[in-house]
Amino acid sequence: MSSNKNGAHILVFPFPAQGHMLPLLDLTHQLSIRGLTITILVTPKNVPILNPLLLSNPSIQTLVLPLPSHPSIPPGLENVKDIGNHGNIPIITALSKLQEEIILWFKSHSNPPVAILSDFFLGWTHDVATRIGVPRIVFYSSGAFAVAVFDHLWENCEDVECGAEIKFHDLPRTPRFAWEQVPSLYRRYRELGFDEASCELIKASMMANGLSWASVGNTFEALEGEFLDCLRKKMGHPRFFSVGPMNMVGGPNKLRVGDVESGSRDGVLSWLDQFDDGCVLYVCFGSQKLLKKAQMEALAIGLERSGVRFVWVVKPLTAQQVADGYGAVPDGFEDRVAGRGFVINGWAPQVAILSHRAVGGFLSHCGWNSVLEAIAAGVVILGWAMEADQFVNATLLVDYEGVAVRVCEGGDMVPDSAELARKIAQSMHGDAIERVRAKELRNKALDAIRVGGSSNRDLDGLVREIAQLEVKNV
Ligand code: UDP
Repeated sequence: MSSNKNGAHILVFPFPAQGHMLPLLDLTHQLSIRGLTITILVTPKNVPILNPLLLSNPSIQTLVLPLPSHPSIPPGLENVKDIGNHGNIPIITALSKLQEEIILWFKSHSNPPVAILSDFFLGWTHDVATRIGVPRIVFYSSGAFAVAVFDHLWENCEDVECGAEIKFHDLPRTPRFAWEQVPSLYRRYRELGFDEASCELIKASMMANGLSWASVGNTFEALEGEFLDCLRKKMGHPRFFSVGPMNMVGGPNKLRVGDVESGSRDGVLSWLDQFDDGCVLYVCFGSQKLLKKAQMEALAIGLERSGVRFVWVVKPLTAQQVADGYGAVPDGFEDRVAGRGFVINGWAPQVAILSHRAVGGFLSHCGWNSVLEAIAAGVVILGWAMEADQFVNATLLVDYEGVAVRVCEGGDMVPDSAELARKIAQSMHGDAIERVRAKELRNKALDAIRVGGSSNRDLDGLVREIAQLEVKNV
């Protein structure tokens, strides 16, 4: 790590969803320790999430602006984690109403930022940056393959046939995805899933990402080099910095905000201590996804029949979610699997669990952060892609990299329990080729973040580019 101590001031604006926010906070930490001056913009209820970051980096300032109201956001909730996946669009829409306040803040600041670094769900900040006269840097919490798929869809928006299979002829390997596998934000846009004003905002925002002065991706060259090259070629400049996996970059003291919240940390880790290396399967579908009752039952039977040891993270349900058909762990299940299954109700210390030597596999929805955390731990992924960029991620891991196994597919899919049990048992065998490849990929990720590695060079390169902005603006 190099420390430029150049002091250039930037405004960091994360999108308040767990999978978006955590990697951008990790990146912010890295930029801060490389000498940048940072202000981070959040709404009041998200301030506590910043605590570990602010404790390690006391020089980071906060800009706390109230979340403008929106009819679909329950009062007091300001994070997608607390609202559910359907909270994405209302939160994007509500935050976009902060434009004037942000501009006023810039104008009144004695040392205003030289750039805005914001999440790709906040594409409208490109306009704000243009109005202020500073560059915008987009942070992608998704992989480069997913970004390329997103770009293709928004750029060819009206030419893509609704409901049909889509062939991405301008992307490496010419991938194809069924309509149901296309990122849900785009599908809902085309299926007129939200009101007209939101529709316009989403499309303009997504298109604006491609116009950003620079891009930062939480990925690494050895994993997605061909897609990164494709994106750089399309943008016409080299400023796409691949700096990941962010969860590995910080080293042992890295920030894991969610882990701090977890009450079950010690219990599960000492439970894992009793088992041999690599024999436990970790089951978790990210911060947002809930399973329907039939899916929970099928998964429970699958886990039970597989004979494999496991940790299963289950979110507590509200009465409304139960009424809507979402399911809990079936009655009696925990007793039947006592000794070889550990159920966590609530938030799990995922990174700590995945890094435990006893864990060898991860039954995952293939959310990008989970993917990178699995890569960091060198464990095999048993993929069950459900929505968003997850089908794209599963294709990368299973079909292109050979480090994962597809065990199920689709957000509404009820797996066949016997089939699922068989696939789980097979993938957790020590000699499965995917397990070997997962360990090789971990080594490549370690190479990327070492001094002189591709991600380390890009992180330093990003800071250098930002430092030059300051020079231009004085
Ligand atoms: N996570 C966690 N404990 C949980 C559930 C999720 O620590 O019980 C973290 C996980 O480690 C990851 C993030 O939340 O960093 C989820 O991001 P991902 O992109 O995998 O999925 P999303 O929640 O965006 O669908």
